[in-house]
Amino acid sequence: MSLNHSNGHTQTSVLTAGLNRLARNLWWTWNQDAQAIYEELSPHAWRYFQHNPVEIMHEVSPTELRVRLQDSVFEAKVRSVLESFESYMSDERTWGAANAAALRDRPVAYFSAEYGFHESLPIAAGGLGILSADHAKSASDLGLGFVGIGLFYREGYFRQSINHENWQIEANALLDPRRLPLDPVLDESGNTIIASLSLALGSITFRAWRLNVGRVPLYLIDTDLPENDTPVRDLTRHVYGGDSSNRIMQELLLGIGGVRLLRTMGIDPSVFHMNEGHAAFLAWELLREKMAAGMTFEDALAATREECVFTTHTPLDAGHDRFGVDLLEYAASKYLKAFKQCRKQIIGLGRVNPSDDKETFCMTVLALKTARAANGVSELHGRVSRSMWRALWPDRAEDDIPIGHITNGVHLLSWMTPTTWRFWKRRGGDDWPGQADSPEFWAKAENSAFFSDEELWALRYVLRRKLIEFCRHRLYIQSRRFGPGEYLPSDMLLDPEALTIGFGRRAAAYKRMTLLFRDLDAIVELAKDAQRPIQFIFSGKAHPRDDEGKRLIQKIIHLSEHSPLSGSLVFLENFDVEVARAMISGCDVWLNNPRRPLEASGTSGMKGAAHGSLNLSVMDGWWREAYDGNNGFAIGDDSNPSDPEEQDRLDAENLLRVLAEEVIPTFYDRDSAGLPRHWIRMIRRAMAGLGPRFNTRRMVQEYVEKIYLPRSS
Ligand SMILES: *Cc1c(COP(=O)(O)O)cnc(C)c1O
Repeated sequence: MSLNHSNGHTQTSVLTAGLNRLARNLWWTWNQDAQAIYEELSPHAWRYFQHNPVEIMHEVSPTELRVRLQDSVFEAKVRSVLESFESYMSDERTWGAANAAALRDRPVAYFSAEYGFHESLPIAAGGLGILSADHAKSASDLGLGFVGIGLFYREGYFRQSINHENWQIEANALLDPRRLPLDPVLDESGNTIIASLSLALGSITFRAWRLNVGRVPLYLIDTDLPENDTPVRDLTRHVYGGDSSNRIMQELLLGIGGVRLLRTMGIDPSVFHMNEGHAAFLAWELLREKMAAGMTFEDALAATREECVFTTHTPLDAGHDRFGVDLLEYAASKYLKAFKQCRKQIIGLGRVNPSDDKETFCMTVLALKTARAANGVSELHGRVSRSMWRALWPDRAEDDIPIGHITNGVHLLSWMTPTTWRFWKRRGGDDWPGQADSPEFWAKAENSAFFSDEELWALRYVLRRKLIEFCRHRLYIQSRRFGPGEYLPSDMLLDPEALTIGFGRRAAAYKRMTLLFRDLDAIVELAKDAQRPIQFIFSGKAHPRDDEGKRLIQKIIHLSEHSPLSGSLVFLENFDVEVARAMISGCDVWLNNPRRPLEASGTSGMKGAAHGSLNLSVMDGWWREAYDGNNGFAIGDDSNPSDPEEQDRLDAENLLRVLAEEVIPTFYDRDSAGLPRHWIRMIRRAMAGLGPRFNTRRMVQEYVEKIYLPRSS
């Protein structure tokens, strides 16, 4: 063997090892060059396995990989991606190192019941999970001391399909940890680390899987171990699965189990972040630890409060878990024994009035009483939350209720499509991912030397066409289940030139999925204008027990098949991260019409700015803070009638009026070159204004500065 050859051999094994390491780090979810490599290795497996690099590395044999790496063009791409990855991982000069060094020694422990990282790891139900994942990704980008805690749901969140009656059907598939970037958490001698907790189901033994999110670790708790009985193994089977007894035990496991897991691993956080009330039992465990070490209840509570912070995510009453105290005492009876005489006080932490035996136990109240800082997720939501929870601070004026706000964001790079990634990379240069959250970068979008109107309009065409082709393909698969001939041929669906409006999110009633169709004749008349047509792409899952949500979906599908809108209205099954990415990038307009003020923030509309999609939204949540009159469209104003029926009527009217008077005329106002100049100006303004503000880098920085760092330092 020649020296050269063996050298080449070592080189390829270094690259192969690099590709394996990268497949097991979610950094690839925010780097399109990395994804392109795995796709190139096996385009079919890439699509078939929901874009999962771990599957690709199983699919492609070491021999094939070695041969493929002999192609110098491919090899150079691999080398370049691995270099970017290594330099990201080893970068010491991060924002966190400079501004939050204290957290490097004792990290933030972030607890969330769901994480929506990617379509290949479907363990989130909706926006809360997307936000948690984006939070962790930006914590990595910033170089924070950060560790995430969650649950590993063996069957994930359900896959949605639609049956003959247009009714949602839920199906679950088993997730195989060996085919996901999940590493078993082991001790120094290589044994699985396990911890335990006694609940009504008996003694629960659990383990954890480590997920590498760039530089930060995330641990997912799993009870599916052979030593557990079947009900215990099933405890973490589904996202928010089962009845309230299962739910309360999942939450006990997340909060208490999460703290125990951290202790077992030797991690000593300085801050515990309860992301939504689901995680609030962690405060119980911190109290128990302190009291076991000899503190009184009062001292332990004061010390626990120093460590905990809390984010509330919804003004919706049903969004705040409340459990009967009987159920709680049953589920946690063994655990509660540790508190001996303080049991009443411990339960009282979940009640506004601790001495009211009839009051249910509320997770939000527990979180508010045990956290030193609490926040809502937009300015309006902060205000609504202060009013909602004022009974907890009877001596204070509403403005002095200690609940602030930090407006949500999105992890912009994670929402790129290959097309958009190339568009920005060509302009930002090779290091553009490092600038993707910066005001300086986005400010250039208002400068036609950065890209011309023609180039931007071409980007819009490509993204719209890709979405339409995605829809045609999905609709073909959806309709095939019912046999041929029942639906329009999918190549006749949708028009690549037409103004395309998207709506994709959970089918919760307050989000009013069908508001646009309240006056069907009026919207049909607008949509069917031969010169200025509009079309609609809808998607969303209803919670399995939410029949009202399922009826909304049913209505949309019915209209898409049996109304004049047929052919220009489609419903895509199984809204997930992949469908969301296709929709928010391809739609010209992203519609958001929740019943104000119930959308605490909303994040889906933030994902569109980098793609040149414009928001059309009621003045709720984030959009109230973002809308400036020229960067998108507003439905209604900064007020709402208290009668919901009146609000629906007004908002529906306003929506139609804005469409007819602003959106459609602006989109179709073309100059001699065929370009909608005013529309393009709005896109530039949206990019420059929204890009740098509504991202999770800005958001996590705010968490660090306002909340995570101890007040004294
Ligand atoms: C962004 C996103 C959401 C959140 O949408 P909202 O409009 O904020 O409710 C929900 N689900 C998925 C899959 C998303 O990507």
